[in-house]
Amino acid sequence: MVQITYKELGLVNTREMFQKAMAGRYAVPAYNFNNLEQLEAIIIGCIQSKSPVIIQCSGSARTYMHEAMVPHLVKGAVEMMKALGASIPLALHLDHGDTFELAKSCINSGFSSVMIDGSHHSFAENIRLTRQVVDYAHARDVTVEAELGVLAGVEDEVTAAASHYTRPAEVEEFVKRTGVDSLAISIGTSHGAFKFKVKPGEEPPPLRFDILAEIEQRRPGFPIVLHGASTVMPEYVDLINRFGGRMEAAVGISEEQLRRAAGSAVCKINIDSDGRLAITAVLRKIFAENPGEFDPRKYLGAARDELIKMVRYKNEQVLLSAGQA
Ligand SMILES: [Zn+2]
Repeated sequence: MVQITYKELGLVNTREMFQKAMAGRYAVPAYNFNNLEQLEAIIIGCIQSKSPVIIQCSGSARTYMHEAMVPHLVKGAVEMMKALGASIPLALHLDHGDTFELAKSCINSGFSSVMIDGSHHSFAENIRLTRQVVDYAHARDVTVEAELGVLAGVEDEVTAAASHYTRPAEVEEFVKRTGVDSLAISIGTSHGAFKFKVKPGEEPPPLRFDILAEIEQRRPGFPIVLHGASTVMPEYVDLINRFGGRMEAAVGISEEQLRRAAGSAVCKINIDSDGRLAITAVLRKIFAENPGEFDPRKYLGAARDELIKMVRYKNEQVLLSAGQA
């Protein structure tokens, strides 16, 4: 495959983005995309709310789009932004890279930032793998995110996950020995749309802000990342359930907790599930109300419009990144 650098694509790495987010007490949104409509919606929503943005895809999302296609899609997004007369800082990030080879391949095909997730390895192996990616990335001015601690999975009991919370003392050593630029930590967020097993009317457990505070104290000014941070927007869950879906027990992180995190050392907040829910809700509603509809522009276009609204709302009301581009 032909090598492409992110600078050729008109992208930036996350270094300056995070410095500004730290100083301005907001978080840069990191939205996942898997297709053209999601990518367009993220860019347009962030242009409209004047927010810096990290567009990210996992290894499997990159395969889904085809790895040769991704840099050209993103180049197209940059050209669209210029045509709209806008210029917001835009980073392309690999979400949950699991091998050095994948990170390297992304760096050589236009990614400006990569995550190497060695959190399932031993502490020593996580350091070795992260260091290897950092050395390769920094030589090309690409930034690296790593992970320490294990996030609760979709069905995990929150109490069972307690032993996997990030240990602040390890953060200090990990950052020093790897030279990593940012770190995803586990303080009670969780991947997926079913984050907690709570009974109706019960609140999900609060995030462990004490752990975050201790990390901040030991490593002032170091950028922290929150994964699994969708709020699982109830209006979308309701629409999905109303139009034939089955997501009754879906629950996420509260907006208030995320606003508090955004005002701390948390510089990047990942949002994937809420985007999936928005699209699914719109499609279910349209197909239920218009069974004869078969023009993809009608339903995918409507999903794109809803996603633009969601991105603007998140930037303005939750991450507080609106107006910062
Ligand atoms: Zn994640």
